[in-house]
Amino acid sequence: FNSIPSGYPEPGKTTIYDTSQTIDIDNAPLNGGVLVKTLVLSVDPYMRGRMRAPEVKSYAPAFILGEPTNGHGVGVVLRSELQGFKKGDHIYGRFAHQEYCILKSTDDIQVIENTHNLPWSAYIGVAGMPGQTAYMAWKEYSKAKKGEIVFVSAGAGPVGSLVAQLAKLDGLKVIASAGSPEKVKFMKDIGVDVAFNYKTENTAEILAKEGPVDVYWDNVGGPTLDAALEAAAVNARFIMCGTISGYNGEPAINKNIHQIFAKSLTLSGFLVGRLIPKYRTEFYDTVPGLVASGEIRYSEDVTKGLNKLGEALLSVQKGSNRGKAVVWVADE
Ligand code: NDP
Repeated sequence: FNSIPSGYPEPGKTTIYDTSQTIDIDNAPLNGGVLVKTLVLSVDPYMRGRMRAPEVKSYAPAFILGEPTNGHGVGVVLRSELQGFKKGDHIYGRFAHQEYCILKSTDDIQVIENTHNLPWSAYIGVAGMPGQTAYMAWKEYSKAKKGEIVFVSAGAGPVGSLVAQLAKLDGLKVIASAGSPEKVKFMKDIGVDVAFNYKTENTAEILAKEGPVDVYWDNVGGPTLDAALEAAAVNARFIMCGTISGYNGEPAINKNIHQIFAKSLTLSGFLVGRLIPKYRTEFYDTVPGLVASGEIRYSEDVTKGLNKLGEALLSVQKGSNRGKAVVWVADE
């Protein structure tokens, strides 16, 4: 992490690829930890919020200037001194964005029981943190009933596309928006009833025609949230997941906040980490199997090489990613 961006992150400036440090993979002391070779790294919208000055408080710690950025990844254990982890195990957890890491017992890592033989990258997407976000908050807050109408913004991404499919499984009519024709096609392919491009179509008009909205899953905030507030049914539930429209500049001021009381809306904000203790077992018992059977589908946008991580970070903020943003660091 090289410098704090003022708007969008700038590859080669905000983050740089640094090859000055090496690790002796055969002899580096583990001090009771595990040496892991990184295979895939997750690139997520919240990382923009971590590119800030450390004194600015937020829910996720700021990246430290001069140190590697970090996030969820999957790797393979090369050497281990840690009970419960052995050579050849694949682990999911929070990794520094490095080709090799030494992780300690206090790090948030777990061995992947890949009973359904999913690709390893699935464990940072549909079967990882974004999938947990969609599954756990949908179960906790949607109170979905068959025949209701849900609107999902950023509906082609890893969070939104799983929400849309869970809603279809629950028998809802699904309206979803995204920012390109390819994303609209993907949303139709996964069963979204009304998929549209919010850049070329008018969200308020579509919701007025296809609503009223009983459940709104908000990934973006800003004008899309205003349109959903306007189109909400009385007693609608709003699941407040993210506000990416404001991550790279000034957040929009919403003009329809009065609809919260006018329509007796329930807004549920959440951080996935707080839902994981309750739903972890149910999630891993359910979602990998649904993916393996083809009942749940996902798409990935794979960037090859750790040196391209900066570009991947930018693409998620700009929306040029065409699915779950993944950096493929190495084969096994
Ligand atoms: P995506 O991979 O879908 O990437 C984000 C997408 O947001 C972009 O691809 C882009 O797609 C869209 N976007 C960017 N700018 C705008 C804009 N101004 N207006 C509308 N859409 C925009 O992301 P995820 O599925 O990983 O995450 C979705 C949301 O969930 C994010 O807000 C994220 O922060 C949040 N989140 C929250 C968690 C929690 O615990 N609360 C945990 C994990 C994620 P497009 O082409 O459609 O514009």
